[in-house]
Amino acid sequence: MNQNEESEFIGFPKVRLRRLRRTAAIRNLLAETRLSVKDLVHPVFIQEGIDEPKEIEMMPGIFRVPLKVLVKNIQELYDLGVRTFLIFGIPKTKNDKATGAYRNDGIVQKSVKTLFQNFGGKIVTITDVCLCQYTSHGHCGIIRDNVPNNDESLKVLERIATSHAEAGADFVAPSAMMDGQVKSIRNALDRSNFYNVGIIGYSAKLSSNLYTPFRDASHSMPEFGDRKSYQMPFHNTNEALNEIMMDVKEGADIVMIKPALPYLDLIYKTRQTTLLPVCAYSVSGEYSIIKAAALEGWINEDEVVMEFTTCIKRAGADIIISYHTKKIAEILNRS
Ligand SMILES: [Zn+2]
Repeated sequence: MNQNEESEFIGFPKVRLRRLRRTAAIRNLLAETRLSVKDLVHPVFIQEGIDEPKEIEMMPGIFRVPLKVLVKNIQELYDLGVRTFLIFGIPKTKNDKATGAYRNDGIVQKSVKTLFQNFGGKIVTITDVCLCQYTSHGHCGIIRDNVPNNDESLKVLERIATSHAEAGADFVAPSAMMDGQVKSIRNALDRSNFYNVGIIGYSAKLSSNLYTPFRDASHSMPEFGDRKSYQMPFHNTNEALNEIMMDVKEGADIVMIKPALPYLDLIYKTRQTTLLPVCAYSVSGEYSIIKAAALEGWINEDEVVMEFTTCIKRAGADIIISYHTKKIAEILNRS
């Protein structure tokens, strides 16, 4: 045995990494990633024409709610420390041009106004800007030759975003995946003097199979075809980063990766690529998978939710949109 080998042998037992894991108090002291209720965004589905909250079949525990209970619902989350809300509207009527999406008395516009009247600047309101909840065909754009026409759809997205800004939204979040949507909306907002309204780009919205429960929740299932000609293929990293860099150049204030859990590599790479805040959207399918297994008693929902959400933050997300926000807030408030 030469001298080096000997010193390595002698030194080896001194390294005991388990010292740092010995008690819960030590582990808590040394946790490198800590979830905070302030990281979280709670998505809200407001439906026109209903009197009572309706549970979404594919998302047990999540409800479409009428406007009259919105303030009560948000207050409950506010009392748990949640401050940021993403608003989706489900209108009573739809048409092929999505005109209901930019009505001044539309469901999102009324919801945002109501929240502003009741909470003012104490909460952050983000609105989803897309056509699919408002089109009779369920696609995210104006259809020409069986696919959404990019530039015609931009004009509608501009009108929707401006109407949300008028209602008092802090951020608009275009999710249609039309090329140039951030730039078009930025210009439209600035033209109307809404230069303080920010844009959260759904920059890399992957064409995921995990959206099915959301489409049930928001009544936005495409009637024909699919969204693969505008949402991004889930195989591609460089294309996702290119989408993100384009949104940054076009004036996005925050960029987003959607879904979250299968795309932690994209969240990580985005964090390394831009200095802007990075948002991750843990989507309906992520929620439903956990919920279904928990209802069968196969996993501990609380523990799995905390693990998955912490991992999304560890990958580099500054903001996390999650259907489990209320549960996480309750757990964090207990601990
Ligand atoms: Zn859409």
